[in-house]
Amino acid sequence: MKVEYSKMASVGIPLSEFRELCRLCGSKTSVLMGLHIFEREGDLRQIYKKITACLPVQVHNTDKLPKMVCEECVYNLDALFDFRERSMKTEYELNSMLKEVYQPVCGESMQSIQMDPLICDSPTTTNGLQVQTTVEVNN
Ligand SMILES: [Zn+2]
Repeated sequence: MKVEYSKMASVGIPLSEFRELCRLCGSKTSVLMGLHIFEREGDLRQIYKKITACLPVQVHNTDKLPKMVCEECVYNLDALFDFRERSMKTEYELNSMLKEVYQPVCGESMQSIQMDPLICDSPTTTNGLQVQTTVEVNN
């Protein structure tokens, strides 16, 4: 289904057709083939949120550019967003692992280190709770 006007650069496209161009790739779409960014399924599938998060494209409900996104771009956007989420989750998990990797004493939790009577040399320490909560303990 080729469109007759030269892509993106042509003058004199009817407004109705302009509005049906995909906002992300510029190909012609339709209500059946694409999703409106701010309405119904497009809204449900958080197209706007995903575009804002993943692409250097500013979309506003009130701007004059098309609000449609074609099926293929929705698919790409979903994949991109999933990948983004995954990388963020991975970073979080790696940071958690980092704390374990650099744990000063193998196999002991921070709490048991604090409770250790050999380390708790402060005279005010009558129970473990008053020990300083500093992670790094000089020995
Ligand atoms: Zn598209």
